[in-house]
Amino acid sequence: MSRPMVFHSTRDATVSAGLSLAIAAGLAPDGGLYVPAALPRQHPADFAAGADLAETACQLLQPFFAGDPLEVELPAICREAFTFQAPLRTLGFGEAQVLELFHGPTAAFKDFGARFLAACLRRLPRADARPLTILVATSGDTGAAVGAAFDGLPGLQVMILYPDGKVSPRQAHQLGSFGGNVQALKVTGRFDDCQRMVKAALNDGRLQADVPLSSANSISLGRLLPQMAYYAQACLQEWQREGRLLNLIIPTGNLGNALAATWVRAMGLPIGEIVLSCNANRTLPDYFDGQDYRPREAVATLANAMDVGAPSNFERLRWTFPEEELLRRHLRAFSIDDADIMTSLKRHALDDGELLCPHTSTAAAVLDRLRQAADHRPWTLVATAHPAKFETVIEPLISRPVAVPPALQTMLDRPARARSIPPSDSMLAACLRAFPSDQ
Ligand SMILES: *Cc1c(COP(=O)(O)O)cnc(C)c1O
Repeated sequence: MSRPMVFHSTRDATVSAGLSLAIAAGLAPDGGLYVPAALPRQHPADFAAGADLAETACQLLQPFFAGDPLEVELPAICREAFTFQAPLRTLGFGEAQVLELFHGPTAAFKDFGARFLAACLRRLPRADARPLTILVATSGDTGAAVGAAFDGLPGLQVMILYPDGKVSPRQAHQLGSFGGNVQALKVTGRFDDCQRMVKAALNDGRLQADVPLSSANSISLGRLLPQMAYYAQACLQEWQREGRLLNLIIPTGNLGNALAATWVRAMGLPIGEIVLSCNANRTLPDYFDGQDYRPREAVATLANAMDVGAPSNFERLRWTFPEEELLRRHLRAFSIDDADIMTSLKRHALDDGELLCPHTSTAAAVLDRLRQAADHRPWTLVATAHPAKFETVIEPLISRPVAVPPALQTMLDRPARARSIPPSDSMLAACLRAFPSDQ
């Protein structure tokens, strides 16, 4: 039998846990994020050509599950989570490809992580008969994906926090459309406030004694691990067909998606360059330009799921490359402001027939800049959401309606409800203590 994998906190290597505990807890007890003691090595030649995403995921993630009670469940977890694919196709401009991550029930890449986390959590034995409440702060897409993944699951309930007025109308509708074991709170503040409130609740021992809590933010290992699967699948496909590395441009906010790609590369799979495309929130671009790491307040942009001023997975990235010099050499980051998002979105829709969401448009704008700088290498854009989720941004730019995928339409046809609260830790605690009796 392979050696069991141990996970420890980014802040203190002596704070450790097995996989099940790390997934159930969300955050490490010292406030750090769980990371594996070491990233396992994988070899491209060990992966069968033509494997589907669930099979690739299972093989890739096996070393992380080694020795854990969930190890025997891994194939079933992967089959349950990866019910849709992540196709890699030729893009209509820039001699590039696009990796489409939006074919899940809520039309954003967050579906992969949320469904995998739900498949893990519902298999974990719990001593406590009370339901486990999953807290999720969302700038739009996470909350919907988590809500959809946990909708109706026994013994589990979800409290979604989102910044009022800072998500698109369709996103807001999705977030409030579940009811029952999935409730939504609209917070009169920013996404960073929602994230801080969730952290405060998770660190509140007295609250935890009354209401067992876990989190489903991108700090959760149960979301991060499955995001590695589509990068492994795509780079192995490129390697097997073209014999070359996959160079990625990844729309980035909290750094969960891009960190997953970084880990896949660090494990030995054929990923080449990784470039982060950010919106006007410049924390990462400034850092990779050589400035000190300076988290700050988020500013609202058209790519709202990336409105993050303090990327929560930065701690994990630091752990991955403890030498700052080395870290700066491993990644690049660009900032694309709203004007450039609109230009990119409009031009590629009207001239190239490629309708991209505002987040994916940041990656397209970065590709355009690279091409202008005479970079002729093969690049792959990561498409993080379906454009139909952002019709209020897109439709005025292209002067026509965006067709809605059927799964998204089903959710939009349901009634929606969210309770409004101020950005206060004690208000959140009160809502959690009242959950689920005030449904
Ligand atoms: C969440 C999200 C992002 C940012 O991903 P991170 O893992 O937070 O960096 C980008 N685009 C869309 C559509 C998203 O929902």
